[in-house]
Amino acid sequence: MPKLLILGAGTAGTMAANLLRDRLDDHWSITVVDRDDEHHYQPGYLFVPFWMEPERVVRSRSQFLPDGVAMCRAEVDHVDPQARRVLLADGTALDYDWLVIASGSHPRPDLVPGVADGPLWRDTVHDFYTLEGATALKEKLRTFKRGRLLVHIAEMPIKCPVAPLEFAFLVEDHFRRQGIRHQVDITYVTPLDGAFTKPVASATFADLLDERSIRLAADFAVDRVDTGARTLNAYDGRALPFDLLVTVPPHTGARFVSESGLGNDMGFVPVDKHTLRSVEHERIFALGDASDIPTSKAGSVAHFATEMFVDNFIAATQGRPLPNSFDGHANCFLETGRGKALLLDFNYDTQPLTGTFPVPGVGPMSLLRNTRRNHLGKLAFEQIYWRMLLPGRRLPVPLQMSMAGKKPA
Ligand SMILES: Cc1cc2nc3c(=O)[nH]c(=O)nc-3n(C[C@H](O)[C@H](O)[C@H](O)COP(=O)(O)OP(=O)(O)OC[C@H]3O[C@@H](n4cnc5c(N)ncnc54)[C@H](O)[C@@H]3O)c2cc1C
Repeated sequence: MPKLLILGAGTAGTMAANLLRDRLDDHWSITVVDRDDEHHYQPGYLFVPFWMEPERVVRSRSQFLPDGVAMCRAEVDHVDPQARRVLLADGTALDYDWLVIASGSHPRPDLVPGVADGPLWRDTVHDFYTLEGATALKEKLRTFKRGRLLVHIAEMPIKCPVAPLEFAFLVEDHFRRQGIRHQVDITYVTPLDGAFTKPVASATFADLLDERSIRLAADFAVDRVDTGARTLNAYDGRALPFDLLVTVPPHTGARFVSESGLGNDMGFVPVDKHTLRSVEHERIFALGDASDIPTSKAGSVAHFATEMFVDNFIAATQGRPLPNSFDGHANCFLETGRGKALLLDFNYDTQPLTGTFPVPGVGPMSLLRNTRRNHLGKLAFEQIYWRMLLPGRRLPVPLQMSMAGKKPA
C-alpha cells in the first residue's frame, strides 16, 4: 500500500488531501498531520480588530477532510528524507513513500528585539497576524483615541503582503467614522522602496495613502523597538515615535523544515517553481506558504498551485514527466475602507493589469479599480473558502493567469 503523508492541514494541505483522495486509487493510504484541530480562516484576522467576532474564523479541521484520509493530531518534529520517515514530537515515527510539506509560514515577533521580549508587547505593540494578536488589538482599538500610530512590516516575505496596507486603510476608516481621525497620526512603515512590491500597484497604493493622509516611511530596515523611548528604530538611524505600533513580524517556515535541513535560510522549502517538486528530494513536494516560490504567500496561490500540483504528483508516482507548469498566479483583494476594495491579478512574470475578473469583459470584479463590488467579492470569499475551496471543489476562476481583455494600467 503506497503511503502519502501531508504535513499541515491548513489551506494547501486540506485541499491537497481532498483533491488527491478523489484521484488516487483506494489502495493509497493518505495521512494528514497537524498539531491541532483548529482550522483558521486567516483572511478573517484582518477584520477581527474592527467587526468580526474571533470565533467566526475557527472551524474543526477534521470536518474538511474526506473519508479515506486519516488525521493525525501531533507536532511534527523532524523529517528524515533518506529513511523516508517523519518523526513526531511524541516519539511516533511515520513512514512515507511520498511527502507533501504544507506547513505554512509563521510570524516571528521574537526576531525583532523589543517586540515579543519587551514590556510593550500586546500593550502598545500589537500584531494582527495571529488570532490572539488580532483579538488583543480589537480591545486596544476600543480605547485608543489619539496619538501616533505606526502600521509596520518588518521584512519580506510575509503572507498576504497586501494585508498591512488593508489594515492601514481600515484603521483610518475606523477613526474617521468615530470622528477622531484628526487626533490620530498614521504612518505606514515598510522595508520596500514604495507602498508595495509591484511598481504599478505600488503607485496606485501610494496615491491612496496620500489621499487618506497616511504618511509613508519607505526603505525602513528595522533594527529594534526602543521600549523606553517608544520608538521604532531603523539601521539608518531613523527613530519613529509611536503611541501604538501595529507590526507584521518577519516570517519563517516551520521549525522542523529548517531543523531537517529541508529549508533555505528562512525555512522555506526550495522547489521547482513550476512543478512544486523539491529540488533536492524527488519524493517531496511543497505547497502553499511552505515553499520558496517567488510569488505572494497567499491562500489564492495555495489554491491555484495545489490544483496544478495534483496531475504532477500523479505523474511523479507513475514515473512520467510532470505535465503542469504553475505560473505563480496570485489573486488578491485589497480592502481600502469606506466599503470598497481593489483586486490584483498577477503571476511570476506579469505585473497587475487592468481588466475584469474572472470573466474577460464581464467581471463581475474589476482589476486595479477601487469598487464596491470588489469589496463584496472579498466578503463573499469567506463562504467560498469554507464551502468550495477547502473541500477541493472547482471554482470558476482560471488557475493560470489569463491575459484575455487585460491591459497595462
Ligand atoms: C492577516 C492575514 C490576512 C490574509 N488575507 C488573505 C487574503 O485575503 N487572500 C489570500 O489569498 N490569502 C490571505 N492570507 C494568507 C493565507 O491565509 C495563507 O497564505 C494560507 O493560509 C497559506 O496556506 P498554507 O496551507 O500554506 O498554510 P496554513 O494555512 O498556515 O497551514 C499550515 C499548517 O501547518 C501546521 N503546522 C505547521 N508546523 C507544524 C508542525 N511542526 N507540526 C504540525 N503541524 C504544523 C499548522 O498548524 C497549520 O495548520 C492572509 C493571511 C493573514 C495572516
